[in-house]
Amino acid sequence: MSIESIPFFRPSIGEDEIAAVTECLRSGWLTTGPKTAAFEKAFSDFLGGGVEAVAVNSATAALHLGLEALGVGPGDEVIVPTLTFTATAEVVRYLGAQPVLVDIDATTLCIDPGRIEAAITQRTKALMPVHFAGRMCDMTTLKAIADKHSLRILDDAAHALPAHHQGVTVGKAGADVTAFSFYANKTMTTGEGGMLVTADPAIAARARTMRLHGIDRDVFNRFTDPRAGWVYDVVAPGFKYNLADIASALGLVQLQRAESFGRIRAGRVARYDAAFSDLPLILPPKPADGDGHSWHLYIVQLAQDAPIGRDDFILTLKEQGIGTSVHYRPLHQMTVWKPFCEGATFPQADLVFSRCVTLPLFMAMTDAEQDRVIAVVRGVLGGRS
Ligand SMILES: *Cc1c(COP(=O)(O)O)cnc(C)c1O
Repeated sequence: MSIESIPFFRPSIGEDEIAAVTECLRSGWLTTGPKTAAFEKAFSDFLGGGVEAVAVNSATAALHLGLEALGVGPGDEVIVPTLTFTATAEVVRYLGAQPVLVDIDATTLCIDPGRIEAAITQRTKALMPVHFAGRMCDMTTLKAIADKHSLRILDDAAHALPAHHQGVTVGKAGADVTAFSFYANKTMTTGEGGMLVTADPAIAARARTMRLHGIDRDVFNRFTDPRAGWVYDVVAPGFKYNLADIASALGLVQLQRAESFGRIRAGRVARYDAAFSDLPLILPPKPADGDGHSWHLYIVQLAQDAPIGRDDFILTLKEQGIGTSVHYRPLHQMTVWKPFCEGATFPQADLVFSRCVTLPLFMAMTDAEQDRVIAVVRGVLGGRS
């Protein structure tokens, strides 16, 4: 008997996205240009305005440009949670600075604010909180710590669109710079892409210059402003991080759907939570009171009394055609990051990693697909059907 397989993630690309990309392809302008300018404007508007949005070709690029614009360099230290994707720490190394890993709070899965001050030294320049799975970090407390120690905040919001802290949208919730991801399996996608958001015009200007080779004006202006024309200066050894209009055309449509995508995911989460309430599972942490969660990922942890370990649980689901993932193996366990945390221990992240698994959650998921995931999980964990 063949079983229907359910992927961990499937993007939601509709006819509007296909039409928008086709129109861009037919327009004759493929690289950074009018679609990207419109996408940046729409993104800033989506966040309620008052910030500049700088489109780039990944969140990794946005994180890199954000730290660069904050002036992080050799000898500096940047505080990063150990439970994150490697990109969060890797960009610190791009600039020759040192990532300092901090353990998470096992109940929120975000960096533990109570452990940050012990990690701050004379060299600490910035904090990089990650809104894990789309659940906002306690930005009020993080901002108070940053202000007390004169640190900047660059938040990794790769999971967190849309989300808010105490009614204030991510991107304006206390960070100096915020990085969003439009990678294929994020909450909205441009295939590959990212956005740097800041209210500081100097940071935005530096990021705009550095995203395109250190050229002092955008490609679009360079090719459309008849006076500027071929005259441009290069003011720094920049990077090649600009976003193509093909991607921005897709992003413009996806952004219009971002709120409804969020509501769909929240509905699926409520359905999972209800279906799993009697199982030996630790369900994903709810947002703090007054916060809004993007529900990018649905991460459960197998409780101590579960009849099966995490690794076998994943294999069993796979045998039954259900895709899962693990977010994440903590950075301190990775070869490249071990030398940066000698002597330190991260018991909370180790515990979460030993028992966590991410279940399928995506906008295009049908009730029937979710019911099958639920039935298999209940079957494996001994729930009454
Ligand atoms: C996906 C992700 C990134 C990197 O995003 P890209 O757009 O692929 O560069 C960074 N941090 C976290 C937490 C992520 O999940």
